[in-house]
Amino acid sequence: MLNSIAVMTSGGDSPGMNAAIRAVTRTALHHGVKVWGIRGGYHGLLDEEMFEMKSKDVSDIIQRGGTFLGTARCKRFATTEGRMLGYKNLIDRGIQGLVVIGGDGSLRGASIFSQETGIPIVGLPGTIDNDVWGSEYTIGCDTAANTIIDAINKLRDTASAHRRIIVLEVMGRNSGWLAMVTGISGGAEYILVPEEEYDLDEICDDMKESYAKGKRYILVVVAEGAGRGYEIGKAISEKTGLDTRVSKLGHIQRGGSPSVIDRVNASRLGENAALAIISGLSDIVFGFNRGHVVSINLHDAVNNKKKLNPEFMRLAKVLA
Ligand code: ADP
Repeated sequence: MLNSIAVMTSGGDSPGMNAAIRAVTRTALHHGVKVWGIRGGYHGLLDEEMFEMKSKDVSDIIQRGGTFLGTARCKRFATTEGRMLGYKNLIDRGIQGLVVIGGDGSLRGASIFSQETGIPIVGLPGTIDNDVWGSEYTIGCDTAANTIIDAINKLRDTASAHRRIIVLEVMGRNSGWLAMVTGISGGAEYILVPEEEYDLDEICDDMKESYAKGKRYILVVVAEGAGRGYEIGKAISEKTGLDTRVSKLGHIQRGGSPSVIDRVNASRLGENAALAIISGLSDIVFGFNRGHVVSINLHDAVNNKKKLNPEFMRLAKVLA
């Protein structure tokens, strides 16, 4: 059993990361294990920004978005030299295992780090994109989806009043999950995702026909990986001659107080991660499958691409 571990957040932040840090910390302390917090992702690991945490260090954070440890992208960690320095910094403090909370990239870095140095690592999927292979859920995706839905509700009011076409660009460079679930739940007519080809000419013809039949307004949700909202809006306006407006939510999607689902799920994942790492397990990621917490091989998680549920794609078209 390990007696000293560290926890960090890395890559893009997501609501619920704090709940996960809190759960890792308090679970470890509950079992008499020392816990270190690493600030600013892999930067903090290399720059020795680490501090021992007590229970009160994670007080008053469960309701906050972002991550109180801070997060970052770190180029130096992508080099063997950088990772060796990180390893030395852990060993110097007697830290025997690491919990990394982050997206695809952070988990990939973690996988390489553990293979290279032998340091036990357990990962938790923290990203609003819900794109980590092996898990149906990632920390923060629920809050982000709810933030988008709130925007969609407002956009629908004004779109209806003016008989406009509204194009909403949401996050998701490689994954259409956010666009798909918010499009379905927001009643979008068209959902454009990077996983699926689309024909804008066909869509525009369809739009003109719908308007001719009396449709009051149309909502298009586009994942950033499927095209730029402003370009798509401009093309729709030119091709259809219909009044079209574009909104881009940007980083608002990342922030905000985490939803109940994100807090509870992050807490459950955090407890599992702490128990696993202190018992000496390594190279696993905890996620959810059919509502249950499951462990996923870290190597598999980062070397496979999660697919968008085809059921969503079918349903979106049926309901549009
Ligand atoms: P996210 O975790 O949100 O997907 P990034 O892809 O930007 O974010 O990754 C975060 C950090 O993880 C990077 O800045 C880098 O330090 C580390 N990382 C990502 N990919 C690798 C890799 N192939 N090797 C080592 N470190 C990596």
